[in-house]
Amino acid sequence: IISDDQGYADVGFHGSKEVRTPNIDRIANNGVVFSEGYVSYAVCSPSRAGLITGRYQNRFGYSRNILLTPKDSTMGLPLSEQTLPDVLKEANYKTKAIGKWHLGAHESLVPQKRGFDEFYGFLAGAHSFFPAKNAQPFHSTVMRDTSPVIEPEYLTDAVARETVAFIDANHTKPFFAYVPFNAVHTPIEATKKYQDRFPNESNQTKRDYYAMTSALDDAVGSIVAAIDKHGLTDNTLVIFVNDNGGPTYTGVQSNGPLKLGKLFLFEGGIRVPMVFKLPSTFEPNTEYDEPTSTLDLFPTICGTAGIELPAEIKLDGVDLTPFIKGTISGSPHDTLFWSNGPNSAVRHGDWKLIKSYDSTWLFNLASDIGESKNLAKSEPEIE
Ligand code: CA
Repeated sequence: IISDDQGYADVGFHGSKEVRTPNIDRIANNGVVFSEGYVSYAVCSPSRAGLITGRYQNRFGYSRNILLTPKDSTMGLPLSEQTLPDVLKEANYKTKAIGKWHLGAHESLVPQKRGFDEFYGFLAGAHSFFPAKNAQPFHSTVMRDTSPVIEPEYLTDAVARETVAFIDANHTKPFFAYVPFNAVHTPIEATKKYQDRFPNESNQTKRDYYAMTSALDDAVGSIVAAIDKHGLTDNTLVIFVNDNGGPTYTGVQSNGPLKLGKLFLFEGGIRVPMVFKLPSTFEPNTEYDEPTSTLDLFPTICGTAGIELPAEIKLDGVDLTPFIKGTISGSPHDTLFWSNGPNSAVRHGDWKLIKSYDSTWLFNLASDIGESKNLAKSEPEIE
């Protein structure tokens, strides 16, 4: 389950005072919370490319957000790359993508060509949460597989409904549901049902953002309830993560103590809520404090499923399970990297170095999570 542009602090388990997220918190309380979970890029599309391939997306030239160009076969995830659902499908998992794709709209790049048996959602980077009106360029069409549909429900509710139906239809066999919600990305739109939960919020944009987050939380609750209903709780890995930090330009997300947000390589852009739940394997109420990455999801999912990766797949992510369980000591990553045009960042131990054009920042995150004290001049040897 992936949220979109959610603030780091806009979940209960990171201390949100504004919006309650009891269902997302329940995943956290019954599983592993990653206190230093990162994405591999600070905006939507390249971050998803890293997640779904387990490889730094820069390795295959995917270093910016893509445009919606259905006639361009080069605009999206290159066909040279194998995806997580490719591997799961090969291992006889039933696979479905439900929500926002944003990895290519050309007919050769759609979910069904990238390892998914089924698709419900839209191909672009954003979508209205209300039934789409025709001829609005902001909207791509909601589709069931390759057929356009008019979705009558609030889109977050619809993504939950479709995911629950997929679980209901496939609970007797191995299944993989990839659920990239477009909540809580713009447009900031909510229905009265969710708005009414925030009667005291006078700022309408904030109220609607909180309402969207609350709808997302309800949707997560429905999906987890479907897993529980079929008796699959113990051996189903549930992951909740966000695709990039909350943007600062909307004025409604909170990244808590983290600096800036989406688009930036400061912590607010790349450190995200990340939780796993798999009761047969991970102790409830576990916190894992070493730096981890969404690049790790591919090998960790395959590892927990007992799937050996094909030798030709060279991943940058690592299987986190032995690190979480303590059977391997040390950190899964000595170093993590980010690169975006003129901007680059590296995390090594507690140190983080950021370069942008002629500017350099060096922070010690152990004592300065908010990246307020630039040590580049005082610690030249570290730089
Ligand atoms: Ca995003």
